[in-house]
Amino acid sequence: MSRWFTVTIDTEGDRACPFFGNRWGPLTGRFRSVLDAVPELRSIWNRFAVTPVYLATSEVLSSPECVEMLKAEQNAGAEIGTHLHTGGAFPCNTPEEGEHLLALTRLYEQALGSSPRCYRAGRYGMDDQTLVTLRDLGYAVDTSVTPHVDWSGQGGPDYAGYSMQPYWTQGILEVPVTVLGLRKWWPFNGWSKYRWLRPSVATGAQLRSIVDSACEMGITVLNMTFHTMELVPGASPYVRTSVGTRLYLARLDVIVAHMRKRGFEPITLGGLHALWNVERAVACCAANTS
Ligand SMILES: [Zn+2]
Repeated sequence: MSRWFTVTIDTEGDRACPFFGNRWGPLTGRFRSVLDAVPELRSIWNRFAVTPVYLATSEVLSSPECVEMLKAEQNAGAEIGTHLHTGGAFPCNTPEEGEHLLALTRLYEQALGSSPRCYRAGRYGMDDQTLVTLRDLGYAVDTSVTPHVDWSGQGGPDYAGYSMQPYWTQGILEVPVTVLGLRKWWPFNGWSKYRWLRPSVATGAQLRSIVDSACEMGITVLNMTFHTMELVPGASPYVRTSVGTRLYLARLDVIVAHMRKRGFEPITLGGLHALWNVERAVACCAANTS
């Protein structure tokens, strides 16, 4: 049985986050989270032959230095997609979502000279209409679903009951973020009370146990996520110091090593789309000949 893992990284401008408290701050107009963090990650990807997926916002795609960095990553095997934020709103709640997606897609095409194939909604705010728009714009994969997580208290989608494995919907392959359910003994509310394959607020041991649990559950595709800002002190709520950055990179190393040890092979979202297309064609042939 083949097992796969993908690493999908929200790629945004730096934010000015307060030293204390678990809050995101405003964009600063700086891009250390791309220009410094992306090269820092490269040594981990090279060591484990990982082909990461960077999902870039409009501010990143508007920065010539960031675009050069993304092109260098593409040349090293990474995949680049898009990531839409509409202020603090869930994009699917915004009447102009379609126009924003079109503008972001055109920006990507101008910056990178090709069409984007994969997408993640800011705040994971996606619905069926989002998928239809993505399909019409030529996208192949969405990775906005966070299974189990109910964002409806903030006005967003409720992903309780959603599949933890890739599936077809509205002509798009959905590759959900790996979230296995609720943590035990976790005192905080919000997204972190769930078992995400996300190094932001989990130890190496907790992340390894998520991979082990996924194996026991028969999950064959893992989708680890985080933000580039999380590698830069003060640019996200999760890392405040340079020591924090080193510890974060160490956790990433541990988790990627453990996924490889458990037999998961690295793949991009485009690679999963190609595999699932083959599987669909085989199933279709089998149905026609039976
Ligand atoms: Zn984002």
